[in-house]
Amino acid sequence: MVVKRGYHFYQNPGPTNIPDRVLRAMDRGAIDFTGAQFREISEECFAGLKRVFKTQQTILAYAASGHGAWEAALVNLFSPGDKLLVVESGFFSLNWGMRGEAFGLEVETLANDWRSAANPAKLENRLREDRDHKIKAVLVVHNETSTGVLNDVAGLRRAIDAANHPALYLVDVISSLGSTDFRMDEWGVDVVVVGSQKGLMLPTGMAFTGVSSRALAAAAEAKLPRVYWDWRRLLGEGSQAYWNGTAPVHFFYGLQEALRMIEEEGLENVFERHRRLAEATRRAVRAWRQNDGPEIFAIDPRAQSDSITAVQVPEGWDADKVRQLCLDKFNVSLGGGLDRLHGHVFRIGHMGDLNEPMMLGALAAVEMALELTGVPHGKGGVAAAMDYLVRSEQE
Ligand SMILES: *Cc1c(COP(=O)(O)O)cnc(C)c1O
Repeated sequence: MVVKRGYHFYQNPGPTNIPDRVLRAMDRGAIDFTGAQFREISEECFAGLKRVFKTQQTILAYAASGHGAWEAALVNLFSPGDKLLVVESGFFSLNWGMRGEAFGLEVETLANDWRSAANPAKLENRLREDRDHKIKAVLVVHNETSTGVLNDVAGLRRAIDAANHPALYLVDVISSLGSTDFRMDEWGVDVVVVGSQKGLMLPTGMAFTGVSSRALAAAAEAKLPRVYWDWRRLLGEGSQAYWNGTAPVHFFYGLQEALRMIEEEGLENVFERHRRLAEATRRAVRAWRQNDGPEIFAIDPRAQSDSITAVQVPEGWDADKVRQLCLDKFNVSLGGGLDRLHGHVFRIGHMGDLNEPMMLGALAAVEMALELTGVPHGKGGVAAAMDYLVRSEQE
């Protein structure tokens, strides 16, 4: 057995580091989830989530991973044969669409290369062609965790409006909420899907859906069968009234603490910290890019994610060896390449409870792993990241 000493640097793009404060908050006994004490905690949580989602509308929760909230959105809104338009961005977008097919929905993919953000004009054109409004919904992943590309949720909303199309707008914010600005109401999003273990800094196992009043109206007409996910069962007045089975009380202890941490720091400051750590990471990768070294997978700097950077290694080299070596030798955990990107990219997560030295430690491990695996690269990535962080402190 390999003995690992010191701190485990957890730099996966989900799940993310669980702050000690959240762990301590969960280190308590069970309480009756039908009682007043739990109601008080859950109401504080739902109110806090509304501020994070930037919505005045309904938020519902389930004991599930994000995949559950994906499925909940589909079975609550649609009827067999309904058509969905999935805006392709990478592995997660296609995976969500595949679930629609499994429920007998017709799924069309608006093709897009994985290295660039979705083009709003292309969406507008496709929706204009759909004169008899066969397309019932547009599905978008805000931050595509498999590629590190951020989609323009507001711009894609404007495209739907410009085409004068009534489709519902469903957005997966699983790896952007609490890391990057997102505004459910202002950006006209009908259904928001999120999980607990990324920007919200909780363990995996709870998922949430923001539901607009338009989406609630659609749910009343939808014909797909649903029981566990049925919004009509869960809904109370103003907040969730019902759980299918036992409410995940411990997640609420943790969520209450995580939301307090976000509010103490200030949501906008949370975004700014993510942006700085992401930019430091990008500076490091740009330094490694010399000598035909690795590069940032997302091409357009305006669409480079503040939650995760996918790093593409040069042709002929194995990104997974770099990832594995970081874990085995340095106790630094990175994300691997998903689906068709396996072996081509490794992914550095920079979301959740992180600070500068944690980020620099992880970047140093990657720089050493590039050297040890023989992947061509320029030196000085960590120094470039430090320079950037110093300058941004002085501004
Ligand atoms: C992590 C992730 C998912 C899957 O969430 P689970 O909680 O693992 O089910 C879906 N979409 C995106 C964008 C993600 O980052």
